[in-house]
Amino acid sequence: MAPRIYTSDLPSLPIVSTSIFARIFAARAPGDIGGFPGSQIAFVDGQNGISLTRAELLNLALSFGYGIQHHPTLAPLTPRGATALIFSPNSLAWPVVIFGCLAAGLRCTTANSSYTSRELAHQYSDSGAALVITAEAGIAMVRAMFRELGLSRNEVDRRTIVIGRDLRWAGGPTIALRPECRGLVTLFDLLLLGKLEKEEQFEGASAHETVFICYSSGTTGKPKFPQTTHQNVTTILDVLRSFFLEAQSENNTVLGFMPFYHAYGLLMILQLPLTIGWSVVIQSGFEPGQFCQTIERFRISFAFIVPPVLVVLARHPDVDKYDLSSLQYMLCGAAPVGANLVHDVRKRLLAKRPRGAICLVTQGYGLTETTTATHFLHFSDAERKMGEWTFDVEDGSPGELWVRAKTVMKGYLNNPLATANSITSDGWFKTGDILVKDKDSFFYVVDRKKELIKYKGFQVAPAELESVLLTHPDIADVAVIGVESRERATELPRAYVVHAQPQKIKTSAQKKKFEQGVAKWMELKVAKHKHLRGGVAVIDAVPKSAAGKILRRELRELAKQDQVDA
Ligand code: AMP
Repeated sequence: MAPRIYTSDLPSLPIVSTSIFARIFAARAPGDIGGFPGSQIAFVDGQNGISLTRAELLNLALSFGYGIQHHPTLAPLTPRGATALIFSPNSLAWPVVIFGCLAAGLRCTTANSSYTSRELAHQYSDSGAALVITAEAGIAMVRAMFRELGLSRNEVDRRTIVIGRDLRWAGGPTIALRPECRGLVTLFDLLLLGKLEKEEQFEGASAHETVFICYSSGTTGKPKFPQTTHQNVTTILDVLRSFFLEAQSENNTVLGFMPFYHAYGLLMILQLPLTIGWSVVIQSGFEPGQFCQTIERFRISFAFIVPPVLVVLARHPDVDKYDLSSLQYMLCGAAPVGANLVHDVRKRLLAKRPRGAICLVTQGYGLTETTTATHFLHFSDAERKMGEWTFDVEDGSPGELWVRAKTVMKGYLNNPLATANSITSDGWFKTGDILVKDKDSFFYVVDRKKELIKYKGFQVAPAELESVLLTHPDIADVAVIGVESRERATELPRAYVVHAQPQKIKTSAQKKKFEQGVAKWMELKVAKHKHLRGGVAVIDAVPKSAAGKILRRELRELAKQDQVDA
């Protein structure tokens, strides 16, 4: 079928060629910071209530930028364009570290905070990082990573900055460093050294320099690192502003628990709210009771979520224990969501509110490679169009979505082959997702062409899990697929394995023991989101095409027969 090209019907925006830092912090009028008063609260620690105003954040970022450029042992590692790997759960330090790195002209590569040393080592070396900025709790893993890379203890100490729980820099309490972190350079140390007069400039052509290197599995194979530029980010911030301004409310307070190491959190939560003058309450993770309590305590008006959070809002008993009436808008992204689930959530939350109260859930679709959202459902259309789709129109035949926009990444870092396979010579990025458009020009994700599993919005690359499983002494061959769990509103990684000596697992009890053992073994090898929650099953042979390609569709059928819904 001939390709169909659709162009957004929204007015075009001027493209800016400047740094993210200037876009967010440059004064629009005398005395303001990025168009809003310096005294406005930018970020709040959801646990202890300690906050940073825009002026404080700007000040701290310029100080961190100075510190990282001028500290005697770090200075040789941090010329403009050097890469810092950030390894930490969400915390109030994140905005200081990110904007501090940007002020110093560094690139940031952000790692999942539950990574094992093997995964961390892969990201550190593949991204060409020169140093690591880690939470105190991550120090043992960072040391193990450096050991894996063969670096000496001295090198490790030279290349590591510890964020520390000490909050004196934010007007909070003094907290002693854990013994295993003593002697390392801390965030607080760097803030004391001085302050940049001006941040590094990325005007004109240098706006195309890479700034973020998040992780993505791409359409096939092992993990890759999309290179996101300053212009990719400033463009998406300008595009998304208009959508978010639809969700203005009395409080304009965002809940930020989605991880900042994923493009979704990094862009939408750490940066976008600053461009519209909203405050962000930071949480280090998701726990139902704490989630509800924080909404009540800070009168949260807007939450960025993923589908499993809707399951909590629809069913968890804690939802009835707290006043969630301030929560008017939710944006669900990173994975597919069903209309019924949204309906249940709205019904439950609205039941306790006066007639005419607002509770809207909308959806964004996009990829790390497209600097987050390419498609966004207006809040005003959310009720009518969420999750419903039909094939009753001519346009409605499914096809792979290709995107051409200023938000498409520069390419995968050090991977020209994967870049060439995903971006055409005339600039179309192939998403690997199958979409359909209805007669009103709304798009629906109906299938996936690429080999990707999404566990609660996190990417899991089957090829990566397969290569780890193949190092198991009793596994001769393996294939990993994603199975859908309606109950948990997510996909779960499931492995089909061939035993190296099948005669050893003849009885069903032996088989079961082996399968469970493999799942447990994987828990020691990979980060939490990659655990084989969809189970392990022994098969005689992995179905493959004549060319040796795994026939995943056949395995998905098999999983249906196995009635997997964990
Ligand atoms: P990531 O780069 O981790 O954001 O993953 C991007 C992938 O997540 C897309 O290619 C889709 O397969 C999936 N995805 C993101 N948003 C949605 C959505 N709203 N509905 C369905 N799938 C989605």
